[in-house]
Amino acid sequence: MKVYLDNAATTPIYPEVAELMHRYSLEDFGNPSSVHSHGQKARALVEKSRKVIADNIHSKSSDVFFTSGATEANNTILKNSVAHLGIKRIISSPVEHHSVIKTLDYLSLTNSCEVILLEVNAQGFPNLEQLQHLLQSSEEKTLVSLMHGNNEIGTMTSPEIIGKLCEEYGALFHCDAVQTTGKYPIDVQKFKVHFLTGSGHKFHGPKGIGFMYIHSDHRLGSFIHGGAQERNLRAGTENVMGIVGMSEGLRISHSNLVENHALTLSLRQHLKDRISAEIPDVLFNGAQEAPFLAHVLNVSFPAGEHTEYLVMNLDINGVSVSSGSACSAGIEEESHVLRAIQHPSERKAIRFSISELNTQEEIDYTVECLKKILL
Ligand code: PMP
Repeated sequence: MKVYLDNAATTPIYPEVAELMHRYSLEDFGNPSSVHSHGQKARALVEKSRKVIADNIHSKSSDVFFTSGATEANNTILKNSVAHLGIKRIISSPVEHHSVIKTLDYLSLTNSCEVILLEVNAQGFPNLEQLQHLLQSSEEKTLVSLMHGNNEIGTMTSPEIIGKLCEEYGALFHCDAVQTTGKYPIDVQKFKVHFLTGSGHKFHGPKGIGFMYIHSDHRLGSFIHGGAQERNLRAGTENVMGIVGMSEGLRISHSNLVENHALTLSLRQHLKDRISAEIPDVLFNGAQEAPFLAHVLNVSFPAGEHTEYLVMNLDINGVSVSSGSACSAGIEEESHVLRAIQHPSERKAIRFSISELNTQEEIDYTVECLKKILL
C-alpha cells in the first residue's frame, strides 16, 4: 500500500486541475503580453485566474500579483518593504518558514533594518503582549510578519487580533498564509493585512506558482527586474498554466472547504487517538487545542534505534511522512521550529500531514507500520 502523508510539503494535484492545464497549454499558448489574438486569449486566462484568487481572499483583483511561489513572494515583501516603503524594523517570530527567517537574517546581516523575533511559548504561539509592548515603545516604521498556520507543528495564530494590534499602532502586517489558503477562510479585509502570501502546490494546484496580496496603499517596486509584467511589480513572462492551475486548485478547494476540513480533522483525530493508545511515551508538538491546523499532526517519539530511521522505515513500508521541515527535505538538520519550542533533541519528531484525499484505511495502515517498526 502507498500512503502519502506529507501534504504540508506538497499536495497531489487535482486531476481536474491537471486536465485544465493540459488543455489550455495546447490551446492557449500565447504570450499574455502579445497584442494579437493568441496573446489576448492568454491574457484573459491570467486575468480570469487573478479574479478567482482575489474573490477567494476577499481582495480586489488589482491587489493580487503572481510569483514563482511563496518563497519569492515572502522575499519580495520583506526586502522591498524595507527598500521601498521605509520600513526600519521588522517584528517576526522564530517559528516562521525559512523563506521568512533566512530573508530576515539577510536583512539583519546587511544592516538593512532592525529585526526582532518575538518569544514563542511551548506550543509555538508568538507572545502578543510582547508584540504590543514593542509596537507601543517605538515610533520606527514597523512591519510585523507572522504566519497564519505553522507548517511544521500546525499551531495557528489569529490574524484578526494581530491585524488589529498593527492597525492600532500604525504598523504594517504581512501574513504567510501558505498552510491555510485553500483550507481555511482567508479574508484580507477581516485580517487587516497589508501583505499576504500563498502557494499553488499546497492546495492541489501546481508547483512553482504563488501569489501575493499587496494593499493598494502600500505598493512595492519590482523585485525581479525586466519587463512590465504584473503591473511593473514582477518582471518575466507569466507562468500562464501555473496561474490557471493555481486558481482552479483554490476554486475547488474553497468550494469544499467545510467538508474537507471536517474530513481532515477526523482523520487527524483518528491517527492521534490510535498513536496515543497503542504506542507508549509519545508527545504531540504544537497546539492541541484549537486553533491548530487540521492537516498537521507532529508526533514526538522517544529515542531508540528504531526511531532514528523512522522516516526511512515508514518509506520502505510505502508511507511518506516528514521529519522536521519538508522544505529542507533530504537534509537532516534540527528544525528551527522544534528548537524554538524547546523540543527535547534526543526525541524524534515526525510530521504526519493529511489531506481530504486520505482515507481511514490509510491511517490504520500507517499505525500498523509504526507499531511494526517501533514495538
Ligand atoms: N511558507 C510556508 C509556511 C510554507 O509551508 C512554504 C512551503 N513549505 C513556503 C512558505 C514556501 O512556499 P513555496 O514552496 O511556494 O516556495
